Amino acid sequence: MTSRANGVPSSVPSTGPRASIFDLGSPESRCVLAPDPDVPFDGLESLLGSAARIIPPTLPHVTELEIMRHYAHLAEMNFGVDSGFYPLGSCTMKYNPRINEDACRLEGFAGLHPYQPVHSVQGALALMVGLQEALGEISGLPAVSLQPAAGAHGELSALMCFRAAHTASGNPRSKVLIPDTAHGTNPASVAMCGYQTVTIPSNADGHVDLEALKAALDTDVAAFMLTNPNTLGLFDPQILEITAAVHEVGAFAYCDGANLNAILGITRPGDMGFDALHINLHKTFSTPHGGGGPGSGPICVTEPLAQFLPGPLPSRTEEGWYTLTTPQASIGRVRSFYGNFGVLVRAYAYVRALGSEGLKEVAEQAVLSANYLRVRLRDTFDLPYDTMCMHEFVLSGARQKSDYGVRTLDIAKRLLDYGYHPPTIYFPLLVEEALMIEPTETESLAELDAFADALIAIAQEAAETPDLVRSAPFSTPVRRIDEAAAARNPDLRWKPSITE
Ligand SMILES: *Cc1c(COP(=O)(O)O)cnc(C)c1O
Repeated sequence: MTSRANGVPSSVPSTGPRASIFDLGSPESRCVLAPDPDVPFDGLESLLGSAARIIPPTLPHVTELEIMRHYAHLAEMNFGVDSGFYPLGSCTMKYNPRINEDACRLEGFAGLHPYQPVHSVQGALALMVGLQEALGEISGLPAVSLQPAAGAHGELSALMCFRAAHTASGNPRSKVLIPDTAHGTNPASVAMCGYQTVTIPSNADGHVDLEALKAALDTDVAAFMLTNPNTLGLFDPQILEITAAVHEVGAFAYCDGANLNAILGITRPGDMGFDALHINLHKTFSTPHGGGGPGSGPICVTEPLAQFLPGPLPSRTEEGWYTLTTPQASIGRVRSFYGNFGVLVRAYAYVRALGSEGLKEVAEQAVLSANYLRVRLRDTFDLPYDTMCMHEFVLSGARQKSDYGVRTLDIAKRLLDYGYHPPTIYFPLLVEEALMIEPTETESLAELDAFADALIAIAQEAAETPDLVRSAPFSTPVRRIDEAAAARNPDLRWKPSITE
């Protein structure tokens, strides 16, 4: 257990900024001393000719021990699901069972080359077909392409299928409707697909304003994109009416499936009337993420849209072999080779390990955890939408800001001192000073309680010692960074100073 007496858990090492590897060691330090070659060799210059470099490369000179300590230290500076609770809303930072990691590292999978002939990768194709069938069953949308490399990529791929379908019926149309709770990737995908975004407001309950939606629907609308449950963690009870209204004008209903963790095995986007969905395998289906990938964003569509899917798609032949075929009106390839195959293996292992009962339990536990935390925290923070939630909920730090001048950003930074990754903040945009909390199904009751205690303690600090919260964090390798400069002028590369 960690001691949280001064808000600094004892398990957090006192890490500080540290020299880069180039500043370690000495010019004489080496890891490996290679023996002299026992074949005649008169220097690299004679081997390389004019290609031999004149200025030696700027390489660090360190011993093996110095390398080990350097990278072990860097690893300690990081925060991941394996180091602590990570309730980053909308990101589903669940524990990723190690058995999936073992599966995707099996030599028969990891050692494959994507250019191998199809007859020599039958097992890999069988796995992909099995995963397609499972995702088709889970989503209620039977035609699946595993190619897209992330959720946003799936959105774009599905919108391209919609455009192809509309174009085939004579008019690609020009607009896509999106609610104001949508994730930023939705309008970005719309723009990339050459459509215009029209924003639909939410009603007082945090659901789609149905009247506003109906008023905006006409035959120039290509699609309506909805995350259900949405980014407030609320399931839209009007969903059947929504998808019917969308279909009435000949538009498609798109489900952003990033929140599938809430409904696994309980209800299916296909049954709600959606025509297409992306699934973030790295969220719901358990691949470590947050460090930049790889992810995977398969899309699932209705039978009539199957002809447009990106291909080639693996399928089973009547003789029981596996083959690759491209749908007749395919939008083409959206990713090289087979998609991010390692993620597909993890997802398949996860689905097979849990089975349909296990997947349903995932959703039930995820929803229970979120509601437990919601109720424990609703007196301490404002809760703009105070109803039963799904897998996540959104608090507001508006009270702390107006009463004590402590902003949600400060609260998030202070949580780091308590050993927690902060929730998603300032999203969705319609909640002031938003804190979006998604605990997932894999946290214990004790961990949920400890996290709630920490947030309650920080709210008390905000009232009593607001400067403390405003100047947190104290225990992290770097403290407050200039986030605007970091985003606008990213400087991520160490540059050698060439002296010779
Ligand atoms: C994560 C997320 C996305 C984007 O998915 P990526 O896999 O990160 O591209 C889209 N919508 C919602 C609601 C999300 O949470």
